[in-house]
Amino acid sequence: MPRTYQHDVLVIGSGAAGLSLALHLPADCRVALLSKADLNQGSTYWAQGGMAAVLHDRDTVAAHVEDTLSAGAGLCQREAVEFTVSNSRRCVEWLVSQGVDFDLREDQSENREFHLTMEGGHSHRRIIHSADRTGRAISEVLTEKAQAAANIEIFTHRVAVDLIHADGRCQGAYILDQKREHVDLFQARAVVLATGGASKAYLYTSNPDGASGDGIAMAWRAGCRVANLEFNQFHPTCLYHPKAKSFLVTEAVRGEGGKLLLPDGTRFMHGFDPRGELAPRDVVARAIDHEMKRLGADCLYLDISHQPRDFLESHFPTVMQRCRELGMDMAAEPIPVVPAAHYTCGGIIVDTAGRTDLPGLYAIGETSCTGLHGANRMASNSLLECLVYAESAAADIAAKLASLPLPSAVRPWDESQVTDSDEDVVISHNWDELRRFMWDYVGIVRTNKRLERALHRVTLLQSEIAEYYGNYKVSNDLLELRNLAMVAELMIRCAMERKESRGLHYTLDYPQQLAAARDTVLTPSNPALQP
Ligand SMILES: Cc1cc2nc3c(=O)[nH]c(=O)nc-3n(C[C@H](O)[C@H](O)[C@H](O)COP(=O)(O)OP(=O)(O)OC[C@H]3O[C@@H](n4cnc5c(N)ncnc54)[C@H](O)[C@@H]3O)c2cc1C
Repeated sequence: MPRTYQHDVLVIGSGAAGLSLALHLPADCRVALLSKADLNQGSTYWAQGGMAAVLHDRDTVAAHVEDTLSAGAGLCQREAVEFTVSNSRRCVEWLVSQGVDFDLREDQSENREFHLTMEGGHSHRRIIHSADRTGRAISEVLTEKAQAAANIEIFTHRVAVDLIHADGRCQGAYILDQKREHVDLFQARAVVLATGGASKAYLYTSNPDGASGDGIAMAWRAGCRVANLEFNQFHPTCLYHPKAKSFLVTEAVRGEGGKLLLPDGTRFMHGFDPRGELAPRDVVARAIDHEMKRLGADCLYLDISHQPRDFLESHFPTVMQRCRELGMDMAAEPIPVVPAAHYTCGGIIVDTAGRTDLPGLYAIGETSCTGLHGANRMASNSLLECLVYAESAAADIAAKLASLPLPSAVRPWDESQVTDSDEDVVISHNWDELRRFMWDYVGIVRTNKRLERALHRVTLLQSEIAEYYGNYKVSNDLLELRNLAMVAELMIRCAMERKESRGLHYTLDYPQQLAAARDTVLTPSNPALQP
């Protein structure tokens, strides 16, 4: 039988954003923390490079702000950038106080000086890290803290289906219990979407399963505006192996002198950008895409074999290990790489406290659009954004909690009209089709014609999915497909609205950048749902 749960705050997502928000809430606030798989299955766990923060003596908040604005190609909101960067040191201190073990400089360890790496777009060494397993270090420590907190109740393998809004407020969500196969009702005075990005819309992605944009789709259906979804970041260097899932080779490999090579061993990046391999990700991804298409190559190569083996083992143990598993040795030879969808820069529009258009609903982390990333996210600013906005949203919720109304009575999920599906092949077929046409038509280089084709196809898919959704019991695969198709449509519509090339959005039909930078804002068309 379906159940009803009541908490003060419902946090949907257990990545860096959701976990830290839950931990920042006051100890007397009853929190439900949800994850649709195990707690560590989001992108956070896989983050390798680290988190950007102003920590070095010679670095300044102003320099970090300017680098972020420059990477964002004129579209960042200065207020959001300054807010995020000026809170970076405090967030690092908070993570350290929770027990996250960041690498220290070998020569200075007594003074606790952090080892900082360099990444594309940054003018200083400012990436704090834990070898190349930074996300895992953060995730494990915060998970342990959340499990020990008496006020946080953790629910895994629960998939949020849709938000509940009544009396002009968000009051909870319908949640599929994957083990019991029932849709339960979770009621709360405030709801936080911390559901991560939507890179699984693409055939090749560095993201784990589950990055299906559920939060963006749910917020859109609940009447919230979304913005800048045309800016999909493609990571330039994922390890290429025809039989292995995409595996990311951290930017820090190029930061430590890794060179990109054509199949004949020639370096090529300086022909595209004077910064060479340290140019921002979009420039490097486009250059690799261009060279692969020009040469008809399956992949290009990344060479860091000039660095000593010990150095590579201590700085990049995860990448070295993965290479070994696939029969490659990064210390002895160039490794094959290709670009893959990596980060969703746009998302649900929020203010500096993570508030969305719907009262009572917050969005933090990759699912949100804070204005920090603009048209292109600078490397390692995303974990920082998760931490900073988790803290500010928690403070806003805590300040209001006593005055927030208790949720009103809501009807439970109705399954009386649906049956078990006998044709799951429809879901898997549509999954493949969606991700393939997004890769081919809405990928690194776009055109009007390709976008029109993609919109046509996604509209057809959506009507098939709607019919399926109306007739059969929901499953995680069906929910993810429904959300991905929704978010794919929003990505395509955003891309069609932008009549220029800027940051991560590059189209052959409008190769120039316009003088004025404008966000692409989409508003739900159902007037009853509008804020
Ligand atoms: C391979 C890789 C390397 C990266 N490296 C870096 C890096 O070095 N530095 C950096 O700053 N950034 C990096 N990033 C990006 C960064 O990791 C992510 O942007 C960030 O971790 C997102 O955190 P999040 O909390 O918003 O979401 P996630 O960590 O993705 O967590 C999402 C959570 O939401 C849950 N969820 C989603 N939908 C539902 C639903 N419908 N119902 C219930 N639960 C749901 C998931 O189960 C999960 O718990 C990397 C990303 C990848 C994939």
